[in-house]
Amino acid sequence: LVSKLPDVGTSIFSVMTQLAQESGAINLAQGFPDYDPPRPLLEALARHVLTPGHQQYAPMPGLPRLREAIAAKTARLYGYTPDPATEITVTSGATEALYAVLAAVVSPGDEVLILEPAYDLYAPAVRLQGGVPVYVPLLLPDFRPDWDRVAAALTPRTRLLMLNSPHNPTGATLTPEDLDTLAGLLRNTPTLLLSDEVYEHMVFDGQPHRSVVGQPELRERAFVLSSFGKTYHATGWKVGYCVAPPALTAELRRVHQFVTFSVSTPTQHALADVLPDTDLYDSLPGFYQQKRDLFRELLAPTRFRLLPVRGGYFQVAEFRDIAPDLDDESFARRLTQETGVAVVPISAFYHNRQDHRLVRFCFAKQDATLRAAAERLQQL
Ligand code: PMP
Ligand code: GLN
Repeated sequence: LVSKLPDVGTSIFSVMTQLAQESGAINLAQGFPDYDPPRPLLEALARHVLTPGHQQYAPMPGLPRLREAIAAKTARLYGYTPDPATEITVTSGATEALYAVLAAVVSPGDEVLILEPAYDLYAPAVRLQGGVPVYVPLLLPDFRPDWDRVAAALTPRTRLLMLNSPHNPTGATLTPEDLDTLAGLLRNTPTLLLSDEVYEHMVFDGQPHRSVVGQPELRERAFVLSSFGKTYHATGWKVGYCVAPPALTAELRRVHQFVTFSVSTPTQHALADVLPDTDLYDSLPGFYQQKRDLFRELLAPTRFRLLPVRGGYFQVAEFRDIAPDLDDESFARRLTQETGVAVVPISAFYHNRQDHRLVRFCFAKQDATLRAAAERLQQL
């Protein structure tokens, strides 16, 4: 069998989680919370699971009442009301939305701009469509986009640009000026935008999240993704959604209907019940900022150098002063097996090996978990 992705192994998140389990390490590698979703959401799911008539296929684009709740939330936060009938599609996590968008719009030979480091599925999913990933590095230490380099990488073949803010793994966020600059670069081009905003409710230090939905020029050419897994501490539920103009939504749905057709019905009902409760997501920036600050404080006495975190739920740290001779993959393994704290090497987010000596910690954990991990890290 000739592999379509011969150079792709098992996702780093599965690899490190397995290694954490085998080593009895505290898992700060894969990004998922070790606390449960809000009680009202769990109770809503239990209710709908027990409701006769809620067990069959949902409509292909998503339950109308969930799409209406998403439209209301989008209007409240970003000042634009997408039409639930033609501009919102519920997907099996942001993962399916990412894959379906790429399958819908990328043809063989199309170039797709990826700002690196990038979430690990982007490039393989582009390549599976015959697309050509074109990598533009984000600039250390704060991983800002270099818009001149982005401009230089744009060609008439650039079908799509992939954005992610707040950013996994670095915690960088885009500013209104970034979005305006990008709008200028894309004006009069055929390039579409995929904006991965799964960490939209985790932006710190009093800043609002700057959604592409709120930038009228970009919105016209964008697929904007979110994930209920992140918003409700329910990564195992695998529900997300895509907001996009009608013509783009129509293309996305052509694929979505043949990838999953539709998403679990009782789960969608439960989410539709709680989404109007604005407190549940309005409290997230404060909730996660406290965790970021606690984790940074706990690591302050160590020899890790902490990079800034403006959003998301990951902390990137440089380990050069601890193990100058180890590459990040070896260090991540050693930290997992010998120190008992699992992390992700930053090279996993690049298409080629990096010399940065950086690893990623997930701080979406109970304070007690963060403290226990820090106790081990303080021994280094
Ligand atoms: N994009 C990014 C940047 C992510 O971090 C994740 C989750 N790890 C996803 C997409 C996938 O989201 P979901 O779990 O909803 O499929
Ligand atoms: N998004 C999560 C992370 O970055 C992991 C998701 C997954 O395991 N596929 O760690």
